[in-house]
Amino acid sequence: MKYIDEFRDGEVARGLAQRIADEADTGRRYHFMEFCGGHTHAISRYGIAELLPAHLRMIHGPGCPVCVLPIGRIDQAIALALERGVILCTYGDVMRVPASETLSLMRAKARGADIRMVYSAADALKLAREHADREVVFLAIGFETTTPPTALVIRQAQAEQLANFSVLCNHVLTPSAITHILESPEVRQYGTVPIDGFIGPAHVSIVIGARPYEHFAQEYRKPVVIAGFEPLDVMQAILMLVRQVNAGRAEVENEFTRAVTRDGNLAAQAVVSQVFELRSSFEWRGLGEVPYSALKIRPAFERYDAEKRFGLVYKSVPDHKQCQCGAILRGVKRPTDCKLFGTVCTPENPMGSCMVSSEGACAAHYTYGRFRDIPVVAA
Ligand code: SF4
Repeated sequence: MKYIDEFRDGEVARGLAQRIADEADTGRRYHFMEFCGGHTHAISRYGIAELLPAHLRMIHGPGCPVCVLPIGRIDQAIALALERGVILCTYGDVMRVPASETLSLMRAKARGADIRMVYSAADALKLAREHADREVVFLAIGFETTTPPTALVIRQAQAEQLANFSVLCNHVLTPSAITHILESPEVRQYGTVPIDGFIGPAHVSIVIGARPYEHFAQEYRKPVVIAGFEPLDVMQAILMLVRQVNAGRAEVENEFTRAVTRDGNLAAQAVVSQVFELRSSFEWRGLGEVPYSALKIRPAFERYDAEKRFGLVYKSVPDHKQCQCGAILRGVKRPTDCKLFGTVCTPENPMGSCMVSSEGACAAHYTYGRFRDIPVVAA
């Protein structure tokens, strides 16, 4: 397959692993955060961590859109479906995220709520057209990748003057989360995890470009290498980070030149800024309140804003007491540090959000990595 097989070649991967081992200075330790859940998934699925030298550690970041959605936001959606009788639609992964009182969207559906899984924001709009007598709410989540399609459907709803459609907007911003990881007081409280550089997200960067990361490189002296999601992309990015650290450089480099430019997709950025504006603060699961890290719908489109239409008030809800998702999303703990991992908490019965989506650190390790933790004993 063109552009797939070339980036999964085992021989080339072994060669890259050797170069990383040769160039990584044995006199120091390297800690690189892959911000994006897509990279976490690739690292677990292709066993990349096992190919790296022991003094180079990859740290999972908070870049899984389902994982960072706090309980309070799922509760709002459930209440709309159960108490206000709306047709609530959202992406499949969100359906199983644990909410309050042992509920999830899936369990609320079992109790009779009209909750539907859609593949795109456009599907939600179609449902609104088909059910003119019902309120249809689209629970919108995700980083900069999924934001433009939501903006487009809001614009389309306005163009059609649809009276029964609205969006519960939970779109979040990557650069603000990275800044927060680097400097928030909570990070110091959790215990700081040393970070020597970042692997920058692939899909997000197609939209926003490489430019927004230049601030981290300059301000915090942290190198960033934007990488694709194939195993060789990730390994090449790690090698580029090692070289930057060795040379004392802190720059933004782009490994994913086949899709990412410095300025990104200007048409997508324009539609997003037409429909959305910054929230002054937004709660992330694991990161707490993060200033200017999410979007809300502009007043010009407020009739399509579910928070305004239904007078919703946000209430923060703490996670399950034993769930370590918060520390895992900050990179301070690993999935196996959680007592519930693989016993009480599994992908079939997730206790926390990191076990729900295949991009979550706990689900990725459960699916691809947990048997590697078991020592091999000779028969
Ligand atoms: S294993 Fe489950 S309960 Fe533990 S941190 Fe991961 S998602 Fe949370």
